[in-house]
Amino acid sequence: MIWNEEFETLPREALEALQLKRLQATVERVYVNVPFYKKKFDEQGVTPADIKSLSDLQKLPFTVKNDLRDNYPFGLFSVPMSRVVRVHGSSGTTGKPIVVGYTKRDIDTWAELMARTLTCAGIHRGDIVHNAYGYGLFTGGLGAHYGAEKIGASVIPISGGNTKRQITIMKDFAPTAITCTPSYLLHLADVAKDMGFDPAVDFNIRAGCFGAEPWSEKMRDQLEKIFNLDAVDIYGLTEVIGPGVSSGCLEAKSGLHVFEDHFIPEIIDPETGEVLPDGEKGELVFTSITKEAFPVIRYRTRDITSLNPTPCVCGRTFKRMERITGRSDDMLIIRGVNVFPSQIESVLMDIEGIEPHYQLIVDREGTLDTLEVRVEVNEKIFSDEVKQLESLERKVTNDIKETIGTTCRCKLVEPKSIPRSEGKAQRVIDKRSI
Ligand code: ADP
Ligand code: ZN
Repeated sequence: MIWNEEFETLPREALEALQLKRLQATVERVYVNVPFYKKKFDEQGVTPADIKSLSDLQKLPFTVKNDLRDNYPFGLFSVPMSRVVRVHGSSGTTGKPIVVGYTKRDIDTWAELMARTLTCAGIHRGDIVHNAYGYGLFTGGLGAHYGAEKIGASVIPISGGNTKRQITIMKDFAPTAITCTPSYLLHLADVAKDMGFDPAVDFNIRAGCFGAEPWSEKMRDQLEKIFNLDAVDIYGLTEVIGPGVSSGCLEAKSGLHVFEDHFIPEIIDPETGEVLPDGEKGELVFTSITKEAFPVIRYRTRDITSLNPTPCVCGRTFKRMERITGRSDDMLIIRGVNVFPSQIESVLMDIEGIEPHYQLIVDREGTLDTLEVRVEVNEKIFSDEVKQLESLERKVTNDIKETIGTTCRCKLVEPKSIPRSEGKAQRVIDKRSI
């Protein structure tokens, strides 16, 4: 099912005409209302009148996270505060928080986008949605909440944390859908098992939207099996609107449809800033074209992906972005080799006896980078002989070397010894920067 048939299946030509109209209005609005944009456009020698076609977007300057920090907290708002009905901030995964604002209409737009997202995952009126994204300044909780209400589902606004209580509620209220980070779903599974439940049998959940952090296809398989549900990957970032920027679909489970009637995606070469053609991998850039309080022009997300324009079996005409392997900030350069934590996750999840809880410790010995992969094993293996643990450690090291090309040290650790997250998991500890 499609939430907004009219827009989500627009033929490309009509979509592009709409995008151009909306882009022109946005560029005009920020030029007039936000001194930061006026200054940058003037420096680049471009005015709103120069945007005559979609390709003219490339004439505009990029916006980066530091621009948001420099204008902290409200400097980039393009409406007076009297029209701002809500503010949110990034969860601060990477440095000082950034602040964004929403008008009443922005909140409606966001609810619409999250209604589309939930529908993409097969969640409808009549569903009971266990919303375990954090409520607060973080966009996840309230974003999913408004979307779920808009489709007419019943929301349990449980937020993150207090995990045992979440399990009791999951049993008693029998939610049919769940929204949270993939790492928190994994944690919920573990706690449920400890409490004597089999999530596939004892709970009623059949669908879920998971995102806010990178996860692998292997992790999707595993989570679907544990809970006997359909898991859809959802993507968004505070700077652009929060969740609801793009969503996977139940029908294809391959890539995430970018809601292009609200956001124009571009892929650029992160080194040169050059725009790359569809299919090529690079840094994802967004221009929001309907937001009032906090529009962004060519915002560099630092997320690495590619765009796929081929039609999807679900009928949506929006381009799909590939699953995000990791943000460029998370990319580890270990002795010259680029490594994303999610690549290591994929290797680990193929090994029997290994649990999907891991942490990567990066350090430097002399001038040499070192990578330690700390990963949990199951109870049975942990209590086995030392010899077995050693041979499993060798297997992990070899498999990582073979698939990724990086030499690492593997340390198998006791079940439940790696810290669990209630929101985004912290997979990397980089001691080189301390
Ligand atoms: P913070 O920047 O503090 O983490 P946000 O919640 O705005 O706060 O984080 C947005 C970022 O989260 C994205 O830029 C991206 O790196 C990551 N992210 C969100 N959804 C996904 C997803 N489905 N897959 C991979 N990464 C994601
Ligand atoms: Zn689709």
